[in-house]
Amino acid sequence: MSATRSPARLWRRSLQFRVVVGTLVLSAIVIGLTGWALVRSVADGLAEGRRDVAVSEARAGFEAAQAQLDAAVETQDGAQSQTLAEMVDDLSTTGSETRPYDLVLEGPLVSGAGVAAPVRSSVAFDESTVPASLRASVRDDGGVFWSYSRARPLGTDESAPAVVVGGRLDVPSTGDAYALYYVFSMAEQQSTLDLVLRALLLGGMAMVLLVAGVAWIVSRQVVNPVRLARRIAERYAAGNLEQRMHVRGEDDIARLSTSFNQMAASLQSQIRRLENLSRLQQRFVSDVSHELRTPLTTVRMAGEVLHRSRDRFDPATARAAELLTAEIERFEELLSDLLDLSRFDAGAAQLELDAVDLSQVARDVVQDPVVRVAGLPVELEGADVPVVVDADIRRVDRIMRNLVANAVKYSRTDRLLVRVAENEGCASIAVRDFGIGLRGDETQRVFDRFWRADPARTQGGTGLGLPISREDAALHGGTLRVWSRPAEGTEFVLTLPRAGGSVHPPAIVSELA
Ligand code: ADP
Repeated sequence: MSATRSPARLWRRSLQFRVVVGTLVLSAIVIGLTGWALVRSVADGLAEGRRDVAVSEARAGFEAAQAQLDAAVETQDGAQSQTLAEMVDDLSTTGSETRPYDLVLEGPLVSGAGVAAPVRSSVAFDESTVPASLRASVRDDGGVFWSYSRARPLGTDESAPAVVVGGRLDVPSTGDAYALYYVFSMAEQQSTLDLVLRALLLGGMAMVLLVAGVAWIVSRQVVNPVRLARRIAERYAAGNLEQRMHVRGEDDIARLSTSFNQMAASLQSQIRRLENLSRLQQRFVSDVSHELRTPLTTVRMAGEVLHRSRDRFDPATARAAELLTAEIERFEELLSDLLDLSRFDAGAAQLELDAVDLSQVARDVVQDPVVRVAGLPVELEGADVPVVVDADIRRVDRIMRNLVANAVKYSRTDRLLVRVAENEGCASIAVRDFGIGLRGDETQRVFDRFWRADPARTQGGTGLGLPISREDAALHGGTLRVWSRPAEGTEFVLTLPRAGGSVHPPAIVSELA
């Protein structure tokens, strides 16, 4: 049995197992209690029956013995004990051949004394056979008394359950008193009880197993459709919405299956509707961007003509021509970003993988025109050894250009730190600035489309740079993550997986984390 089938795991995961075990335990308790009560009442009944017979038989014996004693007239001690012994022998031999009892005669009784001397007995018993309380009652009060006990013949360790009935015999000629005890064996009752006990035990065990079997069959009827529903729900979760449950009959399970199928159908139609809507939207954005490209090219050409001729215009018109050119550039940038995003959305973006050395990418940052224009010093860390990973160099470059340009444009930093590192699963490259940083809520939104920290939107680009960078990273199966603290700066970490590797944990953890 494998570890996945261990009882603890089964208990946690299988409803059916819990139902069967629960039924097993509860039915064992119920059947055990019932059996115990039954055995108790049978045992009591057997013991009472035996006791009643014993008492009435003993009573007759006592009367006979007393009558025999009353008739005897000897006064000599020897003759008296002779008579008593004969009497015991008489009583022992009367009745059926297999005598159902044994006799013990003790005496003469002396008030206050413990055990009186044995006179005669049909079998020699250990003195514990007659309980002390019975001895006291017989000695001190006239009448017949009984008690349950265990008969233990002398010289053996064995004992058997017995009922002991005792009575006092008075010898009129001497005034002495003797105690006569009938020891009725209850071995037969005990074996009957053993038989009942065995039958009950076997029957009870069979019953418990039977009940557990029934619970297994019944719970299977309920659990099977639930398991089927679970499997189908898992397939829905995996995106396969075509599955349906088999509906049979009109019971609760059938109704559950029907509702389940209806739910799946409505989910499917909703998803189709949303998919269509989103496809329409994507197509719209892509169409608009494409449609705008041609007139924009014309506008750009006309703008260039105006821009070239600006020296001949009056200053206000010349300024307008300059503004026009700048805005047309921004417009073109926006259009190309939108086209890129719509390609991502349509799943049409393609990767062209090559071995890329991230250390080289980091060293290239120093040569980046934006950095050089700003005159920012760039510190490199880990870039002196090659860190090679399969990636699309165009996209990696685009991400880095965007991160570096953002740091230069927005952070007001006085230096940059570019770090490279790798582990078995992945390689990371990080761009860190020491500028104004971003607040917690801002870092959350930095990858949102069209989001810019500066609400007046007086500076910067389209707000699409980081979303595109993140899509570029995701296309590689990688991540682009940001850490930032106001007044301490911002760090973006790009992590790309190796073939068969994973981006968790990343090779660089930001100090700002
Ligand atoms: P844009 O194309 O406008 O540069 P991005 O998506 O690249 O848009 O960036 C979104 C916004 O995030 C920027 O407008 C800027 O406010 C903020 N931002 C990005 N990088 C940094 C940085 N290193 N320091 C401070 N703010 C930043």
